[in-house]
Amino acid sequence: LLYNEVQDLKGTIRVYCRVRPFLQGTKDMQSTVDYIGENGNIMIANPFKQTRKIFAFNKVFGQNISQEQIYMDTQPVIRSVLDGFNVCIFAYGQTGSGKTYTMSGPDLMTETTWGVNYRALRDLFQLSDARTHVVSYEIGVQMIEIYNEQVRDLLVSDVFFFFIFLDQFLTLDIRNNSQLNGLNVPDASLVPVSSTRDVVDLMKIGQKNRAVGATALNERSSRSHSVLTVHVQGKELATGTILRGCLHLVDLAGSERVEKSEAVGERLKEAQHINKSLSALGDVISALAQKSSHVPYRNSKLTQVLQDSLGGQAKTLMFVHINPEVNAVGETISTLKFAQRVA
Ligand code: ADP
Ligand code: MG
Repeated sequence: LLYNEVQDLKGTIRVYCRVRPFLQGTKDMQSTVDYIGENGNIMIANPFKQTRKIFAFNKVFGQNISQEQIYMDTQPVIRSVLDGFNVCIFAYGQTGSGKTYTMSGPDLMTETTWGVNYRALRDLFQLSDARTHVVSYEIGVQMIEIYNEQVRDLLVSDVFFFFIFLDQFLTLDIRNNSQLNGLNVPDASLVPVSSTRDVVDLMKIGQKNRAVGATALNERSSRSHSVLTVHVQGKELATGTILRGCLHLVDLAGSERVEKSEAVGERLKEAQHINKSLSALGDVISALAQKSSHVPYRNSKLTQVLQDSLGGQAKTLMFVHINPEVNAVGETISTLKFAQRVA
């Protein structure tokens, strides 16, 4: 093993909670976060009900924690991919709570605000370069979206214009087949990358494709899961041994519950799909956390795609995001309850 610190991680499922800062222009700056303890505790106050609740996680990051500090606590898990481990990193939370900020960064990005995915790839490139005399690595990425329980390739180039018309034909199958070397969506473009620049360019294509499919009124990105998968294959020069690992960076659909009155037609269907897949994910992770003999992977496309990377030797890190505003307290508590179930 290259990285001993990986051994130090207790268990294979970790849950981190991140509190989003107040955005500029927020009028009511009262926070529902009463207290953050050193040991991963967070206390939430509900001013409407005059109640307080404590939740416990592996770590809690307050409003002022930088992208770099977040990455420092993510790095050991990411590095284990080079040793042949499979890793899943999830961003969970209601829309606007900071999922995309953690995974990718803000809209206008500089290197200091880079999110986990750019930092992870930069790290993987640097580490693999440093080892070229011992192991030769190949790195490739796939980027898919799961929307209404359909899987789509986000890295198809050249078809931006036809994308809307081809929508139903571009729906991809999931195959869990050991011969495919962990490629569970074998028909999604797998693009070789060798620098962070390549990755930045690809992510732009992915974002653009995601936007093209969006219906006019609904922001698609909050209604679909996006999965960036980094496949790493290393060949030990001395022995010829092949090591394969993959890293899934998952920006989940918004976890907010939809008002019954608001949800009709298309919106109702979307809400039902999101609800079903997030609870299927929760069920899988909590079955794994409890070492249950039955893990219900088949209940959603998301858990099917990630099947080989959830459980067994694989490592899971879930970032749960909360918005500290008082009017979000209901969603905050239901987010933390979800997370508590898998922690
Ligand atoms: P989500 O993806 O969960 O819908 P976003 O990541 O888009 O939420 O975050 C909502 C807004 O809050 C964005 O403008 C984002 O730049 C900002 N934001 C989120 N987290 C942070 C943070 N930790 N520091 C500064 N701004 C943040
Ligand atoms: Mg987002």
